[in-house]
Amino acid sequence: MAGDLAEAAGSTRIILNIVGGDEVPALSGETLDKLRPADGTLHCRLARSGPADVDAAVDAARRAQPGWAARTPVERGDIVRELALALREQRREVSALVAEETGKPIELALGETDAAVEMGFFVAGEGRRSYGRTMPATMPHRSVSTVRRPIGVAGLIASFNTPLPNLAWKAFPAVFCGNTAVFKPSEHVPASAHYVAGLWGRAGLPPGVLNVVQGLGAEAGAALAGHRDVDLVSFTGSAATGRSVNEAAARRLAKVCLELGGKNALVVCDDAALDNAVHWALASAFSNAGQRCAAASRIAVFEAVYDEFAERFAARARELDPQPVISEDALTRQLAAVRASSATVLAGGERLAGPGWHLPPTILADVAPDADISCTELFGPVAILYRVRDFAEAVELVNDSPYGLTAAIHTGSVHRAMRFAELVRAGVVVVNGGTHGSEPHMGFGGVKSSGTGWKEAGVEALDVYSDVAYVNVVSDPERV
Ligand code: NAD
Repeated sequence: MAGDLAEAAGSTRIILNIVGGDEVPALSGETLDKLRPADGTLHCRLARSGPADVDAAVDAARRAQPGWAARTPVERGDIVRELALALREQRREVSALVAEETGKPIELALGETDAAVEMGFFVAGEGRRSYGRTMPATMPHRSVSTVRRPIGVAGLIASFNTPLPNLAWKAFPAVFCGNTAVFKPSEHVPASAHYVAGLWGRAGLPPGVLNVVQGLGAEAGAALAGHRDVDLVSFTGSAATGRSVNEAAARRLAKVCLELGGKNALVVCDDAALDNAVHWALASAFSNAGQRCAAASRIAVFEAVYDEFAERFAARARELDPQPVISEDALTRQLAAVRASSATVLAGGERLAGPGWHLPPTILADVAPDADISCTELFGPVAILYRVRDFAEAVELVNDSPYGLTAAIHTGSVHRAMRFAELVRAGVVVVNGGTHGSEPHMGFGGVKSSGTGWKEAGVEALDVYSDVAYVNVVSDPERV
């Protein structure tokens, strides 16, 4: 299982796959380099897995599934609690690993680890709930109730941005529901997934219940999404990749949950508390270098307060410590989009000199709502300011997007707030707060190109990772 953390964090060790509880290299023997975003130095090498490695992991998951599913929900919930406790015990070590492989500040990594732990506790509690339904029937003496059944083998594919919540949001409910799983972490964050899977193996998760296959999306990820023996694919990533995952899984009619991107809007009305609006706009646009599906990348400000808001927002953005984005490719793509937009740059806009992949918080203005940069998710620290005349124009701008993940409004009017919640097409609506910040007990997911309608987290996650069977019993009152 996973080796010593100091070794994992400090040297160029090779991150192997975890298949049936064993650490195994890719069958090809090939590896990929993983570089540190903060300075571009080599962090580790990871197994470059292909279809044969995915076959082995799916086979291990398939073999472990009947035994795991035979445990009661209470037992599986107890084990999930042990996994969450083990993660809490190692929160500093695993957060240090996340901070190093993503370049995010340690405080942010610690907060994410704590959220992952809470997700474990929330799911563990379902061991003693997992409530079903009973319902009346037309036929006399017929009782009808629902039970949850595992789906089988789950293929879990995740983005790089918040490695531990991304793993926890999928793995905890997947295994709790009696499935076994193959997890494909992003190639940008191999070490934390490897470390946590090893930790959970030692904390009591039986071999084969959670397997980890490292490698590139187009190789290991595509092989997992298209695998004939994977019954459910749960994917978090970009809309473009999600579309190909959905197509691959559709060929065998596998269940698919897609949690995709966003181009989320935050509206600042003329009656907003401006300090609060500036605070939440900064947090929504720039925390985690804007690498959040729920980041605010479109900020629509009423004409009457636009100049004051823009000045305060840009001044505060210039004071923030820039955090690196995940890769040289990501930085190059974001800079190219900024340059191609011909926007007025109010803050940032240029790569910082020196090592690593730093784009300071960047604020653009004078961009049309239907320009390319207004419709394309950049997944970086870039926010666009729009001037809007009134509430109606603000709502139109919010909805004029291929995405529909989250939306926020800052206003002193309960009437505007309620009408906004009615009119915007988004999975999450926030009043006087940020566009991100969902918690483990809250279902999360978007509409349009932001997802397929399933919710991650909350009790809704149980619907993703289980099938519901309706059990009918007809009794005979004459035979008592
Ligand atoms: P990505 O689509 O490039 O990659 C996501 C995962 O898919 C990675 O593990 C990658 O290796 C894998 N992958 C890539 N190509 C694949 C293929 N052809 N088949 C199967 N798997 C493949 O996305 P990313 O850059 O890692 O993450 C950023 C995206 O994720 C953004 O769009 C962001 O909004 C989204 N995201 C969404 C949520 C949500 O809950 N809605 C949360 C976090 C991130």
